[in-house]
Amino acid sequence: MLPNQFRRFAHCFPEPLLLVSEQGQVHAANAAGCTLLGVADSHPLALTLHDCTGEEQNAVARFLHACVHSTAAVQARLCFTGVKPAVYMLCEGQLLIDQEQTPVGQRLLLLRCVADHKPPDSNSVAAAQAVYHQCERLVHVGRLSTMGELAAGIAHEINQPLTAIAAYAQAGRRLLAPTDTDTAELLDKINHQAQRAGQVIQRLRGMIRRRDSHRELCELNRLVQDTQVLTEADARLHRFHIRMRVAEQPLPVVVDPIQIQQVVINLIRNGFDAMLEAGIDTGVLTITTQRLDDDYAEVRVSDQGRGIPESLSNQLFTPFFTTKPQGIGLGLSISRSIVVSHGGRLGVAPKLDQGAALYFTLPLALDNGDV
Ligand code: ADP
Repeated sequence: MLPNQFRRFAHCFPEPLLLVSEQGQVHAANAAGCTLLGVADSHPLALTLHDCTGEEQNAVARFLHACVHSTAAVQARLCFTGVKPAVYMLCEGQLLIDQEQTPVGQRLLLLRCVADHKPPDSNSVAAAQAVYHQCERLVHVGRLSTMGELAAGIAHEINQPLTAIAAYAQAGRRLLAPTDTDTAELLDKINHQAQRAGQVIQRLRGMIRRRDSHRELCELNRLVQDTQVLTEADARLHRFHIRMRVAEQPLPVVVDPIQIQQVVINLIRNGFDAMLEAGIDTGVLTITTQRLDDDYAEVRVSDQGRGIPESLSNQLFTPFFTTKPQGIGLGLSISRSIVVSHGGRLGVAPKLDQGAALYFTLPLALDNGDV
């Protein structure tokens, strides 16, 4: 369908309809759509969805990506800033035309926008953003507190002697008699190698720098199963067994896969620790995934440790709360921030006869379809 055809078709609809490419370029809009974007009813529209919404670029890109790769409509709440005051709309996006059938060379999506009946006030938007950034910071702290902190410490320690080696080599070079070319060559080599090692350290530091959250459409069962490989060695070491009970149907979610795996691994490690503390010899840790209802999927990690007293079940999520001698007490609070920033919940299941079970939920990306 061409933009002109789209306009003729969309004209009679009272709600804003937008024809958008997978990169976010707005190719056409009906009259209500133009009003929403704050542009005259002209052609072509030199706008992208990123320009006319107050969302961060990544959020819009993730939404468009999910729309293109899903077989059902995907919803997102967008803040349109072309009108004053800005309005929140619930946008439902669906792939309309595949690449081969369009003259513009990109897949096109239909965005249907309906007024959001519960527009958040500016405070709650700011609060949501603050939570998001806090989560990013917590994730960063979490990463640093494990391997990164160690690496940063080592990098710092090594950098100083390396700088000293390079400086001594340069000073030695200056003190040499001009005729002693052999020693000069050796000192140059020392200097060069010290500089090279310094660059390696710089790269290592770069790796530890904060990484932006990147969300994509993933299949939750697969994501959870992949964590088994990462925790298998730990399990074997303690003669524990991980039992996977994944849902039969696919569970599509739009998430940052690394963050969600971080949450699962954290729950698994806590389960192992609990079984070790309880002196269990060959414990079994069960990971279950299931579709809760039309909107949410759940991941549950159950162990055979001592369990969690009800009085503690809320405290666990407080930063730096730990009962372990070597614990940091950040794992669960970081995990909860990650899950909440994805629109889900992380909690402790009601007290069990044996062991503990922690679960988290995530909103499903689709009503049906494969990933
Ligand atoms: P850390 O593992 O560094 O202590 P966490 O935030 O991951 O930090 O966990 C906080 C506390 O929650 C743990 O010290 C432990 O007391 C409790 N906890 C977490 N998971 C379990 C579990 N599966 N069984 C029993 N206690 C748990």
